[in-house]
Amino acid sequence: MSTAAIIVAAGSGQRAGGGTPKQFWPLLGRPVLAWSVAAFAEAGVEQIVVAIAPDQEARAREALAAWKVDFVNGGATRTASVRAALAAASNADTVLVHDAARPGLTAAMVRTLVEQVQQGADAVAPALPLSDTLLRSDGAGRVRETIDRADAHAVQTPQAFRGAVLRAAYAAAGADFTDDLSVVRAYGGETQLVRGDVRLMKLTYPEDITVIETLMSGERFTCVGNGVDAHRFGEGDHVTLCGVRIPHHKGLLGHSDADAGWHALVDAILGALGEGDIGAHFPPSDPRWKGADSERFLRHARELAEAAGARILHVDVTILCERPKIGPHREAMRARTAAVLGLPVERVSVKATTTERMGFLGREEGLAAQATATLERRR
Ligand code: MG
Repeated sequence: MSTAAIIVAAGSGQRAGGGTPKQFWPLLGRPVLAWSVAAFAEAGVEQIVVAIAPDQEARAREALAAWKVDFVNGGATRTASVRAALAAASNADTVLVHDAARPGLTAAMVRTLVEQVQQGADAVAPALPLSDTLLRSDGAGRVRETIDRADAHAVQTPQAFRGAVLRAAYAAAGADFTDDLSVVRAYGGETQLVRGDVRLMKLTYPEDITVIETLMSGERFTCVGNGVDAHRFGEGDHVTLCGVRIPHHKGLLGHSDADAGWHALVDAILGALGEGDIGAHFPPSDPRWKGADSERFLRHARELAEAAGARILHVDVTILCERPKIGPHREAMRARTAAVLGLPVERVSVKATTTERMGFLGREEGLAAQATATLERRR
């Protein structure tokens, strides 16, 4: 049994105002569209087809580079977009159709829907019973009618179908439909509802982002990573720590710029992500990293966090050395670190201590750093 998911993301986002179409609005560190793709991929859906406006395709490809996705050009209407995507998913036994504007999709919901189809349903959709009273008003806000809400449901996506039924229904469909369950119903197919999920609310207005983030954050947890690094002093007239050049009568030896502060911090972020250590990502044996600016390493750690849907909440770096004195440079080091990580400076701590002249640090043979990173992760 093969399964395909169609994501309709062809909207221009004009209703919500603002220039960026809502499928690209940032949501917990990822574009809105990426959340649905991630959920389908996690649920084991074999083919993911995104219907996108031609002028948005390059942007979508970049946003979804981490997944295997097929793109089709969206049509002028939703029905036309689904039709085009359906042609690209012509082999699937089960087809799910989803709106990109509902990013709160879970793999569990995808599995539930697919199971229902595989057990024989033609068409299944998640829906929530309505709890508010429904009224119909005229254009001036005058109430004209109370609508009986008994058994009324608000229908969500994704909607799942037997592929053959959905294809036949679309082949027979004339007019435009606002959802695919209606296409199948018009064709005479049997359709059924399963319990919806409040997280599948439709993103319509910019302020909806805050609501969806709060709903989706329910599954988030906090991870703390730590990192340690040390470099030996050698010839030179400065050291680089947390991206700041500090005059000193010695330099630090290392393959890259030997920024022990940022190296420890990169390891702390990688630690919180369970992504190994800096040496695995940037092997010292690789000539590309000779003399490299460590900003590159720190940016890489930030990008890995973002790609994992994680958010860096706070970082704390401690430099261990007798000299140079860190105090005069502390604020500049915080500011540089905050800028590279995209954090407010209040969420970045830089401090220093000595070892009371004991050991290799006390003898000023080298300098060390220790860092802690606190991340919020979704999985
Ligand atoms: Mg190092």
